[in-house]
Amino acid sequence: MAQNIYQFLDVGRAEPPKKSLQQRKIEFVEVHDVMPTEQVAAQADRCLDCGNPYCEWKCPVHNYIPQWLELAQAGRIIEAAELSHQTNSLPEVCGRVCPQDRLCEGACTLNDDFGAVTIGAIEKYINDTAFEMGWRPDVSGVEKLGKRVAIIGAGPAGLACADVLARNGIDAVVYDKYPEIGGLLTFGIPAFKLEKSVMTRRREIFEAMGIAFELNCEIGKDTDFQSLTQEYDAVFLALGTYKAVDGGLPGLDSQGVIPALRYLIGNTAELMAAPMSDYPYLSLANQRVVVLGGGDTAMDCVRTAVRQQATSVVCAYRRDAENMPGSRKEVQHARDEGVEFEFNVQPLEVVAEKGVVTGVRFVRTELGPADAAGRRRPKPVADSEFVMPADAVILAFGYQANPPAWLAEHGVKLNDWSLVETSGEHAHFPMQTSNPKIFAGGDMVRGADLVVTAIAEGRAAANGILDYLHSEP
Ligand code: FAD
Ligand code: SF4
Repeated sequence: MAQNIYQFLDVGRAEPPKKSLQQRKIEFVEVHDVMPTEQVAAQADRCLDCGNPYCEWKCPVHNYIPQWLELAQAGRIIEAAELSHQTNSLPEVCGRVCPQDRLCEGACTLNDDFGAVTIGAIEKYINDTAFEMGWRPDVSGVEKLGKRVAIIGAGPAGLACADVLARNGIDAVVYDKYPEIGGLLTFGIPAFKLEKSVMTRRREIFEAMGIAFELNCEIGKDTDFQSLTQEYDAVFLALGTYKAVDGGLPGLDSQGVIPALRYLIGNTAELMAAPMSDYPYLSLANQRVVVLGGGDTAMDCVRTAVRQQATSVVCAYRRDAENMPGSRKEVQHARDEGVEFEFNVQPLEVVAEKGVVTGVRFVRTELGPADAAGRRRPKPVADSEFVMPADAVILAFGYQANPPAWLAEHGVKLNDWSLVETSGEHAHFPMQTSNPKIFAGGDMVRGADLVVTAIAEGRAAANGILDYLHSEP
C-alpha cells in the first residue's frame, strides 16, 4: 500500500531530468538522465493502488506494476527487480523504449486529470539500479531437462524466448547474423533512445544464465535450417520484418534517396566503431533533409539527422499530428530538438536534376472517413501540389515481412501478408506453427510492431515449447 494515498494531489507527475538541448543536438546519448532516488520514491508513491490496475492489463507482458512501484517507493530495489523480471525479459529496455503513453501510462487511473505515474522511468530505474548493485537473475537452482532449442534471431522476441527457456532448464542457443544481440534494439533504434551498452550488459547477463549465442551466423547461408531442425528438440523463429516499403514513388533511384534502416544502421555502426559493409556510414551534415513517414523509424531518422548537423530537417506525414503512429514522447523530443513537421501532405514524386535529389513534390491532404482499422484515410486536396526543396530524402514508410524460402520447404505456413501463421498466444501449445516442432513470434508473426509485444510473444512461445517438449514421449 502506498504510504500516502493522496500523494498524487500534492506531487505532480515528473519525468527524470533531461540532458541540455545543446548536448542532445550533437551527441548520441540517452535524452533522460537516471531519475534521482528521492524522485523515484515520490513518483512511485503517486500510485493510487486503485485496486483495478488497468496499467497492468494494458502492458503487453502484464507487469506487476503497482507491486514493484510499492517496492521502489520503499527502496526495496532488489525485490522490485526480481518481481519485474518475473514478467519481462528486458525490463530495462522497455522502460526506455515503450510508447508508455499508449500502453501502461495511457491506462493509469490518474492519467486524464492528474498525470499518469511515470511507470517507464521507474521500471528503468529499478533494473539499472539493481544491476549496478550487482544483482543478477539467479538460475543456479534450475534443474536441466536435457533438451536443446535453437532460436533464430537475437531481437527482443528471440531473447525473451531464450530467457524463459533458460529459467526452465532448457539449453537455448540463439543464432543471429549480426555481430551483437538485440536485433533492432542494437541495429535500428539509435543510442539517444537506448544506449548500446545496455544490450552489451544484457548479453553478459544472459550468457551468465547459460544462454549460448552464435553471432555472425546467418541461417540459410552460414548454417542450413535443415540441420537445426535435426539437431535440436524444437526451433523458435524470430527473424523480424525487413522489407522496406518504398511507396513506389517516381524518382526513387535518384542520388540522395536513402532507406531509413540503412541510414540508421550505418550511423550506429560508425558510432560503435564497427563498420558494416552492407550499411555504409552516411553523414547528412549541411544538407536539407526530408523524412517521409510518421512512425518511430521516421522519428529516429529526423533526430539522427539533427545530431549529424543537417541544415534543416522536416518530417512529412500524410495524416495530422493526432493520427501519427510515432510515440508522443519521441515526437515531442524531435520538436524540442528543432525538427519541423509538415502534416497532411502526401509525397507524389522525388524531384531530381541530373539524377540528384532536389526536392519532393507533395499534394496536401485532408482526412476522410475512418478505414477498417479505425484510422481516418487521407484524401488529396485539388490544386494543392508543391515542391519542398531537399538534398536528402529518407524513406521511413515502414516494413513488410520477408520470410526466407526455407520456411515453406519445412511446412511453415504463411498468411496472405507473408507473416508466419501460428496457433496464437492462448493456444494449447502457444505460438506453434503448422510444423509442430517449430514455433514463431515477434514482428515476423505480428507485422512490424513493438519491442514489448515481441517480448510477450517470445515468452508465450517459450511456454508453448516447454509444453510441447513435456508432451513428447
Ligand atoms: P528484430 O528486432 O527485427 O530481430 C530479428 C533478428 O533476427 C535480427 O537481429 C536479425 O539479424 C535476425 N535474423 C533475421 N534473419 C536471420 C537469419 N536468416 N539468420 C540469423 N539471424 C537472422 N518499438 C518500440 O517498442 N519502441 C521504439 O521506440 C521502437 N523504435 C523503432 C525504431 C526503428 C528504426 C525500427 C525499425 C523499429 C522500432 N520499433 C520500436 C519496433 C521494434 O524494434 C520491433 O517491433 C522489434 O524489434 C521486433 O522484434 P523481433 O525480435 O521480432 O525482431
Ligand atoms: Fe509500460 Fe512497457 Fe513497462 Fe509494460 S513493459 S510497464 S507497457 S513500459
